[in-house]
Amino acid sequence: MAWREMYNKNNVFYKILRSEIPAEVIYEDDFALSFYDIHPRSRVHALAITKGLYTDFGDFTANASPQEVVGFFKAVLQVANILGVSLTGYRIFSNIGSDAGQEVPHFHMHLLGGEKLSP
Ligand code: AMP
Repeated sequence: MAWREMYNKNNVFYKILRSEIPAEVIYEDDFALSFYDIHPRSRVHALAITKGLYTDFGDFTANASPQEVVGFFKAVLQVANILGVSLTGYRIFSNIGSDAGQEVPHFHMHLLGGEKLSP
């Protein structure tokens, strides 16, 4: 079984979801929890994680319900609106697996903005 197919509850975002460790929450709904990245790479650096237990984008997109997928991406847009970067611009991305350097094996999107981002 590939590493990504088995969700490992021993990860920091699972603990944040369960309020076992704190996070600076920006937004929460039935599909997503968003909070600030602990090591910001730009003036604004938020994360949005799924409420469901998915290891990465591939796992989420293949296995989540259409309602979860739509709900999650709408939540990411909400986060951009709340952070006030919708007009100035921002970048969203997700690291998937070892070649991308994914550190936390719970699906999440990064949102960077608040300044001119390097290409
Ligand atoms: P990735 O490499 O895409 O898995 O990114 C994981 C991100 O989670 C990194 O940018 C970390 O800085 C961030 N991170 C790790 N632990 C925490 C935490 N306790 N609270 C907020 N962000 C975290």
